[in-house]
Amino acid sequence: MTGRIDIDGVSVSPDHFIGGARVSSPATFETRCPFEWDRKLADIARGDAQTAALAAEAASAAFPAWAALTAAERGVYLHRLADLIEANVEKLAVVECLDMGMLLESLRLRVILRGAANFRTYADLAAHHEERVWSSRGTLNRVIRMPAGPALIITPWNAPFMLSTWKCAPALAAGNTVILKPADWSPLSASVLADLIHEAGIPAGVFNIVQGLGAELGNALTSDPRIKRISFTGSVPTARVIGRAAAENIVPFTAELGGKSPLLVFADADIDAAAKKAAGQFDDSGQVCMAGTRIIVEESVKEAFLEKFHGYTDAHVMGDSRDPATTMSALIHPVHAERVLGFIDRARAAGDTVVRGGKRWKEGANWIEPTLIVPKDNQSEVVQNEVFGPVLTFQTFRDEAEGVALANSTAYGLSGIVYTGSEDRAQRVGRAVRGGTVWVNTFLVRDLTAPFGGIGISGIGREGGDYALDFHSDLKTLQILEGSVR
Ligand code: NAD
Repeated sequence: MTGRIDIDGVSVSPDHFIGGARVSSPATFETRCPFEWDRKLADIARGDAQTAALAAEAASAAFPAWAALTAAERGVYLHRLADLIEANVEKLAVVECLDMGMLLESLRLRVILRGAANFRTYADLAAHHEERVWSSRGTLNRVIRMPAGPALIITPWNAPFMLSTWKCAPALAAGNTVILKPADWSPLSASVLADLIHEAGIPAGVFNIVQGLGAELGNALTSDPRIKRISFTGSVPTARVIGRAAAENIVPFTAELGGKSPLLVFADADIDAAAKKAAGQFDDSGQVCMAGTRIIVEESVKEAFLEKFHGYTDAHVMGDSRDPATTMSALIHPVHAERVLGFIDRARAAGDTVVRGGKRWKEGANWIEPTLIVPKDNQSEVVQNEVFGPVLTFQTFRDEAEGVALANSTAYGLSGIVYTGSEDRAQRVGRAVRGGTVWVNTFLVRDLTAPFGGIGISGIGREGGDYALDFHSDLKTLQILEGSVR
């Protein structure tokens, strides 16, 4: 076991959590603070094939007993974990803020609590599930959810705690054991979660957390035949690699991937509210999969919209994520900042117009100014591809059909945002915009029982509510000849 590290008063283990115990690796990788890049936070255990095998063994060994519990019994553990998350909001918020760069205030007030809500929601949904039973063709049919086995959960760096809890909760509630592999750019909150899993008394091996680099640890995990479900959130190229591994072992696989979502503003909308929401897409420096990054505005309100949009964007404050005055966090990593700047440079070179921003806030820092680009045409790279940074594009349309056509003109389909004052249009355009979730006159509000996922290259499968519980179960139809048993 490697020693624990103090991170601003929070004790964090750099090790894996396997079979209820801390396990180290001979090699490590470092994690740094996005807004104080000189500050190394920790050297984290760098998992390898041996780590993957150990975790798969632990998750397999713990599976029969966990699966044999009733959903209500498993729910007791999950509620206990949720209680501990609520009691440790400050610790989790501080670590996530330093490690990922997310604004401390928003972590304290919303994001960490959502982690607790994820466990509570799934504990209750699974416990209150009623099997579907009906009579047909002389038999009594019953649909049964059977726990599937160890589930591998792979998460990205941009919302590590929220996404890890969102994805692990249904797997555990359904009776699967879990191996969570967080992203190597923001591994720390998962390690704090491991301490809480231990404190909650969740049986050893039920919830394992392994740290490591994508392909190095990931390939060993995804190819292990003991894994019975793979639930992935991340980028399209990685999904292709993991999907091939899942296909090799015939393992069900869900993928929540990137987006290039439209923010469509009609002339009949509350233009001030729409412009404010559009400027809000720069929050978290645009490192949000669902962000409405393509602003598409009805021509007649273009000037009014832009005036308001620039006003709200001017009010953004870049800075230390712990400072309550800061509204825009740093980008996660210098490599990512370079990637974002590469999109902007290529846009300029291709004849797109950078209307505002387009450069670093300060030399050498990980912030990029809020950037608005008017593309030369709809085929511009910056319109068609996810940037995952504070870069929005601006386009206009003359009628509803053109607006919807622009909204639906990329290969993605994660979400959409529509601003309109018309009920008819809200229904019509809401249905027509290609996206797993479309919000009208709002954004990011979620009911955790609703399906969530992407269309096109934004993903495969649905999370949320019963959809995730079904994914993590082997659904069985039990048919008994009526009148044959008593
Ligand atoms: P990524 O694909 O680079 O990495 C995601 C995870 O996969 C990481 O844990 C990484 O270590 C792991 N990984 C990489 N190669 C692997 C392999 N060969 N085998 C197994 N695991 C491997 O993505 P990222 O850069 O961390 O995250 C950003 C992306 O995630 C963006 O595209 C964003 O839109 C997307 N995202 C989607 C959602 C959603 O719900 N749809 C939510 C958040 C982020």
